[in-house]
Amino acid sequence: MSQNNTLSSMPATIILQCISCGNTYPIDEIRYLCDCGDLLDVWHDLELLRSQINRGLFDGRLSGAPGPRVAPTANSGVWRYREIILPTTVNNIVSRPEGNTPIYEHNSLSQWVGSQNFFLKHEGENPTGSFKDRGMTVGVTQAGIMGAKAVACASTGNTSASLAAYAARAGIPAFIFIPSGKIAAGKLAQALAYGAHTLQVQGDFDDAMRLVRQVCNQMGIYLLNSLNPFRLEGQKSIVFEILQGFGWQSPDWIVLPAGNLGNTAAFGKALYEAQQLGLVNRIPRIAAVQAEGASPFYQSYQTDFAEHKTMKADTVATAIRIGNPVSYKRAIRTLEWTDGVVATVTDDEIMNAKAIVDRAGIGCEPASAASVAGTRKLIAEGVIKPEETVIGILTGNLLKDPAATVDYHTGAWSSAQFANPSVQLEPDIAAVRKVIEKRL
Ligand SMILES: *Cc1c(COP(=O)(O)O)cnc(C)c1O
Ligand SMILES: [Zn+2]
Repeated sequence: MSQNNTLSSMPATIILQCISCGNTYPIDEIRYLCDCGDLLDVWHDLELLRSQINRGLFDGRLSGAPGPRVAPTANSGVWRYREIILPTTVNNIVSRPEGNTPIYEHNSLSQWVGSQNFFLKHEGENPTGSFKDRGMTVGVTQAGIMGAKAVACASTGNTSASLAAYAARAGIPAFIFIPSGKIAAGKLAQALAYGAHTLQVQGDFDDAMRLVRQVCNQMGIYLLNSLNPFRLEGQKSIVFEILQGFGWQSPDWIVLPAGNLGNTAAFGKALYEAQQLGLVNRIPRIAAVQAEGASPFYQSYQTDFAEHKTMKADTVATAIRIGNPVSYKRAIRTLEWTDGVVATVTDDEIMNAKAIVDRAGIGCEPASAASVAGTRKLIAEGVIKPEETVIGILTGNLLKDPAATVDYHTGAWSSAQFANPSVQLEPDIAAVRKVIEKRL
């Protein structure tokens, strides 16, 4: 068993490959799409990697004691798996460090979803409060390797918060395109605070997306939208951490919210690779959960993907308010690799699930609660069995969207089942005692 804890001196070869026609391109060429117009994946030489990595290599790195300085190779839950994400030298790495997120279990939560083995992995406890950091550490590292003079993305929030932070760490200017007036306060605050050039486009997300792609092509700026396959490589580490955390014994299910389908795509690829590399014998099934008002992938799934549906999206869960998901084809592949399923939940179900997660002392932003609402629904429908082990992914932090939470608890959300409004009272000890006695 190799105990080599340093960066591999002989990086495995990696290439860009088109998801449809199979054309390949070198990774040191800046391109986001194949000449045929379809998506690109980063592919590693799995044959070569099989002789270079194993469970013991990754387990050995868990004991890497944190020193006074951040060392991404020791402290990051992404770069722990670097051989199968982006083999590079340590000096190139831009890290906060990210990953190593906790897995929570809570009795009332398990009861509410109807599972005997329900766990939540909290990706909202990443440095900028969402799983996007796992992709961005890799994307911005790659931007630096390519000598990018600037980086850019269009985003409804968490991607811009994350890009702004990592670009600032790397000293690369960041340009962020957001649809005007449609971004949660916590996310916009981060983009501004981290010094990104923030352009509020008077239009919708698709307008912002079209402009950022044109600007990147015309001005030689490096595009870090989820088209960018290097980000998805970083997001695979969520799955590697889960598998390693469970002693390389796969849970039965991983349930996650699905918007642009980047994570759905990354999870499937990670599981495929983990199995090919012999890290696990068996892989979990994936359940991708969409909000009913933003469910183009679910609608397509209903036709067995004979039809590719898009829609005008609307949901309280802004992080998954996407009507034409970028990683559509990559996500179909995930369902094939993992015997996966797709479900939808309503905004009411999302907000009530969120309230349950929040009052368990865990907390998440609305989109994340789709995992919990979705698990509950899939158990009720008999798709997931109560005794099966389920890992739900909480994708973002409670503080990202304070307005949604306050609205829910203060009466603006008419079907709130678990509202916890504040009490108005006179500045008088008798009044205070009365309230407290009633509640104890
Ligand atoms: C980006 C994001 C999602 C959606 O992930 P996709 O990869 O686009 O499907 C879900 N939740 C949160 C909090 C996000 O930031
Ligand atoms: Zn192609």
